[in-house]
Amino acid sequence: MYAPPGVRTSKDMPVPDSMKAWVLGDPGELKFVDKPVPVPKRAEVLVRIDAVAICATDLEIIWHGPPASIQGGMPFNKNWTPGHEYMGTVAALGPGVDEYRIGQRVTVEIHAGCGQCKRCRQGMYTSCHNYGLNYGDVDKGHRANGFTTDGGFCEYQVNNINTLVAIPDTMSDEEATLVVTAGTAMYGLTELGGLVAGESVVVTGPGPIGLLGVAVAKALGASPVILTGTRDNRLEIGLELGADHVVNARNENPVEAVRRLNGGKGVDYVVECSGAPNAVNDAVRMVNRGGKVCLAAFPHEETPVDVAHIVRNNIYLYGIRGEGKSATHRAEAFMSQRRFDATKVHTHTFPLEELPTAIKYARERIDDAIKVVVKTRARAAQRVAAE
Ligand SMILES: [Zn+2]
Ligand SMILES: [Zn+2]
Repeated sequence: MYAPPGVRTSKDMPVPDSMKAWVLGDPGELKFVDKPVPVPKRAEVLVRIDAVAICATDLEIIWHGPPASIQGGMPFNKNWTPGHEYMGTVAALGPGVDEYRIGQRVTVEIHAGCGQCKRCRQGMYTSCHNYGLNYGDVDKGHRANGFTTDGGFCEYQVNNINTLVAIPDTMSDEEATLVVTAGTAMYGLTELGGLVAGESVVVTGPGPIGLLGVAVAKALGASPVILTGTRDNRLEIGLELGADHVVNARNENPVEAVRRLNGGKGVDYVVECSGAPNAVNDAVRMVNRGGKVCLAAFPHEETPVDVAHIVRNNIYLYGIRGEGKSATHRAEAFMSQRRFDATKVHTHTFPLEELPTAIKYARERIDDAIKVVVKTRARAAQRVAAE
């Protein structure tokens, strides 16, 4: 029975000694293995994982490696478990932990940071200077589950208490996996200045972060909120999440459309979530002089950028990584107050043992998949009924 010294458990929620976990082999290869259930240390809890969403970054990591960094290098063939957008139930408490109780439902943010570098001390723990340094002689205790430490495609994982967000019973497991995605959008808007009520916002790229970016911008009072993309079914969901206007870039020039929809003027903010090769040049032409652009996605190739236009017009560019400055807590507040319905981006659910199929759906967008969720106790695959 699971009873590590100093760790508190409850007989109401017994924890086994070993669990099922997916581990990454060669690029693109996942294996379902048995692993010992990990042990929480000081300021950590053991989370029983109930649901985990698949993210585009997981696909990037599983096939290419970065931004995962395991023991100073590529994540392949290191018995390492990917997956980072999960939620679950607190199952055991590390020494001294009284901030959470066993049986409490939580969702997680990814980056714990080292807690001691300059950026962590500024609340920018997703830009920790000790990223990936958590092994051997260079151990600074950095944790980013699913990036630099074991992640969520398994039954149990250890989380620093700073990465936990308590959720109400009214929030479903599937919706709770989306809190960190909404948190990433919230962090982008936070970095742009945060106070967006009455200001105009364009979101480019209707993936999960872009769609929830629309929802968060609207909840913060932005007006108008314009979403651009190339898939009508996703633009439709953007309208349901609060976009005032949508633009299909296959049908019209998105820069001209944005200016027309905003009374002939550029907008105050663009949140770029497409990663398309010309996205930066489009974004800097969508904003007005002195406008701000948040870059939340990246193209695979280096792309030429019109620097002269940026300088002449005093345009600000912000690269953002992850969900810093406690943005996840603010996103969760909007979601638990029902300010928007994040479940509109969740399309499919699979059981944990069918992870490779779930990944195939997410990767190939089979059946218009957007957010695909894997559940540890689900019995069969299901398409979420359209409402
Ligand atoms: Zn993600
Ligand atoms: Zn740090």
